[in-house]
Amino acid sequence: MRLKTIQLAGFKSFVDPTTVSFPSNMSAVVGPNGCGKSNVIDAVRWVMGESSAKTLRGESMSDVIFNGTTNRQPVGQASIELVFDNSDGGIGGAYGAYAEISVRRQVIREGGSDYFLNGSKCRRRDITDLFLGTGLGPRSYAIIEQGMISRLIESKPEELRVFIEEAAGISKYKERRRETENR
Ligand code: ATP
Ligand code: MG
Repeated sequence: MRLKTIQLAGFKSFVDPTTVSFPSNMSAVVGPNGCGKSNVIDAVRWVMGESSAKTLRGESMSDVIFNGTTNRQPVGQASIELVFDNSDGGIGGAYGAYAEISVRRQVIREGGSDYFLNGSKCRRRDITDLFLGTGLGPRSYAIIEQGMISRLIESKPEELRVFIEEAAGISKYKERRRETENR
């Protein structure tokens, strides 16, 4: 399972529709300070269902929408689409048979978010469920940010265990058990 492209529109500094492609297994995003490199990573977290504005380096959730510059008006909505190559079946379950999986989130100012899986509207949960156990999710280890390694090293055993369980593919079963027990 590999991220192929990210399509951004109205998200943070990416006001015009922009496609970022990752043509190989290793890509680097380079550019001067403030050009939007971290915004690309924020975009990935956001689509995966991140609900903390702080994690996305903002104060409120609507801070992800382009809020204007001296010569450009703010816009009313943001949308991000991630396209994954799933020809290796890395994402299993109901979507396992799809060679390509698209995940999209859009938000309008003063409104909630809508999520889409391969073009069909879905719940946030459908997205988090899909990626549970793959290492990719809003808070998993696929995105290693500054300071995270030292946080991991210093973390308490029970915090570390969350990462190990995700890597071992156990977290999705634990999540299902939790759901069953809560019913
Ligand atoms: P560095 O090399 O310093 O880490 P970077 O390339 O990671 O920089 P980002 O943090 O991704 O840069 O981008 C910051 C830019 O995004 C700032 O210029 C900021 O004004 C702009 N930005 C963030 N949120 C919004 C928004 N909602 N609307 C418009 N611009 C925004
Ligand atoms: Mg940065």
